[in-house]
Amino acid sequence: MKEECRRDFERISEYLDGELSEDLCRQIEDHLRRCPQCRECVDSLRKSIELCKKAVYEEMGRDARERLRAALRDCFASDRS
Ligand SMILES: [Zn+2]
Repeated sequence: MKEECRRDFERISEYLDGELSEDLCRQIEDHLRRCPQCRECVDSLRKSIELCKKAVYEEMGRDARERLRAALRDCFASDRS
């Protein structure tokens, strides 16, 4: 995992939650543009989030967030092999 990816790891999960400020959002999007690997992770997570939103967005609480975080971790971790 690149240093930059490691640093942005936590931010990305917040980014997916839509909780980042516009400024940080832009930084993440900038990272995603330059980093195909992270982009791939986020794209696939984003799809599952959109599915979640359609179904039970209101109920997407801590549990869903934990799963999201785990998925993100898996995605990044798979890089090491
Ligand atoms: Zn990256």
